[in-house]
Amino acid sequence: MLIRNMDSRNPVIFPSSEPSLSVEFFPPKSEKAAEQLLQAASELRALKPDFASITYGAGGSTRSRTLEYARRLQNDLGYNIMPHLTCVGHSRDELKAIIAEFKAAGLNQIMALRGDPPQNAEGFTPHPDGLTYANELVALIKEDYPECAVAVAGYPEKHPQAHDLETDLHNLKRKVDAGASFITTQLFFDNQVYFDFVDRCRAIGIEVPILPGLLTLTSLEQARRFCDMCDARLPEALEQQLADAGDDSAAVEAAGLDWLHAQARELLQNGAPGLHLYLLNRSGIALQLVERLKADGLLT
Ligand SMILES: Cc1cc2nc3c(=O)[nH]c(=O)nc-3n(C[C@H](O)[C@H](O)[C@H](O)COP(=O)(O)OP(=O)(O)OC[C@H]3O[C@@H](n4cnc5c(N)ncnc54)[C@H](O)[C@@H]3O)c2cc1C
Repeated sequence: MLIRNMDSRNPVIFPSSEPSLSVEFFPPKSEKAAEQLLQAASELRALKPDFASITYGAGGSTRSRTLEYARRLQNDLGYNIMPHLTCVGHSRDELKAIIAEFKAAGLNQIMALRGDPPQNAEGFTPHPDGLTYANELVALIKEDYPECAVAVAGYPEKHPQAHDLETDLHNLKRKVDAGASFITTQLFFDNQVYFDFVDRCRAIGIEVPILPGLLTLTSLEQARRFCDMCDARLPEALEQQLADAGDDSAAVEAAGLDWLHAQARELLQNGAPGLHLYLLNRSGIALQLVERLKADGLLT
C-alpha cells in the first residue's frame, strides 16, 4: 500500500521524509478562550509542529479573528501557519481580497474549503457572486498565487451531503486537479476507513499526500457529538471504554489517549505522511501522545 507519496510541490509543509506533525486551532471568541489558546500554543511549541492550521468560522463569524490569530501565532510564537478559508457568504472579489491579506501577512499556505451554511440555514447557498464548491476556491487561489500551497478536506467516511463515496471521491479529485497539494482528512476513529480511503483515492489517480486528522478526545459526549456532526463512526469498543471510565474525567482522558496512541502508531507504521491533530485549543493530550510516539521511535 503506497500511502505516503510525498509531493515535491509542498516542501514548506512536508520539509523532510520524516512524518509531519501538525495541529489545528480555532480562533477564540472570548478573552478567557484566547488565553487558553495562547497558553496551549505556547506549550505545543515544544513539539516543533511542521505547521498549525487555524479554522475559519461558519458564516464568516470569525473572519477577522482567523487572520488576527494567524498573525499572532506566526509572529509571536514562530508557528508556520496555514489559515483556513471558506466560500460562505463571500463574493469572488472578497475572497480574492482575503487571500491577498493572507499573503501580505506572510502566510504561504491556505486550507481551501466550501464551508458549511450558517446555523439554522437550510443547505449551502453560494453568494450570488461567489463560489459553489471548494475546487473553485483552489483555482481562485492558484490563479493569483500559483506558488501558494493549498490543502483541501477529504472525507474517509464520505461528506455528509454527498450521494455516495464514489461521487465524493471524484469531487475530491477535482480539488486536487485544480492544484491542491495535499489532503487533510475529517476525523475518524477506525484506521481501516483511512486505509480504504487512501486506496480508493490512489485508484482514481489522486496522488498527493493524505494527512490523517485525529481528534484528541476528552469525553464520550464530545466523541458522540463530533461523530454526529461529521457522520464518522464511533467504534463500539471505544464507546465502551469511554463509558466504562464513567464520570472520572482523568480515566476518560486516559482511555481516549490510549485509543489515539494506538491509532497514531498504526497509521505511522503503515506509512501515513504524518498526523494532524484536532486538539480543540488544548495541549495536554497532544503532548502525551507525542511523548509516547517518540518512545515508540515513530517520531523524532
Ligand atoms: C480538514 C477540515 C477542515 C475544515 N475546516 C473548516 C473551517 O475552518 N471552517 C468551516 O466552516 N468548516 C470547516 N470544515 C468543514 C467543511 O467546511 C464542511 O465539511 C463543508 O460542508 C464542505 O467543505 P469542503 O471544502 O469539503 O467542500 P467541497 O469539496 O466543495 O464539497 C462539498 C460537497 O459538494 C460536493 N462537491 C464538491 N465539488 C463538487 C462539484 N464541483 N460539483 C458537484 N458536487 C461537488 C462534495 O462531494 C461534497 O458533498 C473543515 C473540514 C475538514 C475535513
